[in-house]
Order: sequence, then structure tokens, then C-alpha cells
Amino acid sequence: MRLKRPAFAQAGILKNQVAQWASKIGVRPLRVQIQPMTKKWASCSPSGRICLSKDLLSEDRAFQRVVIVHELLHLRVHNHGKLFKSLMSAYLPEWERVANGRIRSVCGYKDYTRFHIQ
Ligand SMILES: [Zn+2]
Repeated sequence: MRLKRPAFAQAGILKNQVAQWASKIGVRPLRVQIQPMTKKWASCSPSGRICLSKDLLSEDRAFQRVVIVHELLHLRVHNHGKLFKSLMSAYLPEWERVANGRIRSVCGYKDYTRFHIQ
């Protein structure tokens, strides 16, 4: 078993992942912050500010990726419609399987307080 890295190091790794995915997707988040969030994994403001829940730090990489890509895609698609889902699948073909049963609400973007995985 690997030793747990300190929280600040974990946060740095998470932010690095965000930066890498942002360039892959071709978006530029205005700001990325990691903070305590009780009801959601993440949120994204229309101005491009992304907040990730501190709890995400203790989740595995695959799940972190799903949440990161989800929020970054909101900088391109402002809802959870068909286009959004097909882009998710294009970047992370496994996302539904990874997220299955673990996501109640990813984000609260534009009145979507709950994001259900079918
Ligand atoms: Zn969302």
C-alpha cells in the first residue's frame, strides 16, 4: 500500500490534472479552487471558475478524472444534454461505468442540482 501524500500535495496533483485536461479539451478555466463542499463534487460558474470538493482528494484517479472532465466540458457546453454526454464519452469512454453509483450530484450548473447517471 502506498503512503498517503499530504493534502497540499494531493491538491497540487489534482490541479495539475485539471490543467492537463483543460489543454486537451481546449478550454481555459478562469480559476480552479479546491474547497470543502458538502453536497456536490464540483461546481462551475458561467465565468469559468471551477470549484472542486476537497473530498475528491481521497477518491481514486479515475473518478477524479470524471469530475474534472465534467466541469471543464461545461466551459464548452452549458448543460447536461446530448452533446455534453457525447463529449464526455469521447474524452472518457469509461465515464459512466466509473461514475456509476458514486455520483449523486456532480455539479449545480444552471439549475441542474442533480446530475443522474442512467
Ligand atoms: Zn454538470
